[in-house]
Amino acid sequence: MNDPQSAGVELERIERDFFARDAQEQQEFLTQTWCNHCQAADLGMDEPVEYECRGLITIEGRCLRCRQPVYTELTDESF
Ligand SMILES: [Zn+2]
Repeated sequence: MNDPQSAGVELERIERDFFARDAQEQQEFLTQTWCNHCQAADLGMDEPVEYECRGLITIEGRCLRCRQPVYTELTDESF
């Protein structure tokens, strides 16, 4: 993908282990979603990947309805 806004910007992305979270927490992240594509909440997602970028913990998955990427960003009080 060629995105002119991010061209030349090196974003540091630190992989984290989503599956190290406890089962109930994983379930909440997989069900409590906001999909920008569907403009709807709580559609659910799968294929979660967790990483840290610019100091933000992000969990990325795929919307169960439209299969577009869904991002959940965690603020400080979440972890
Ligand atoms: Zn969607």
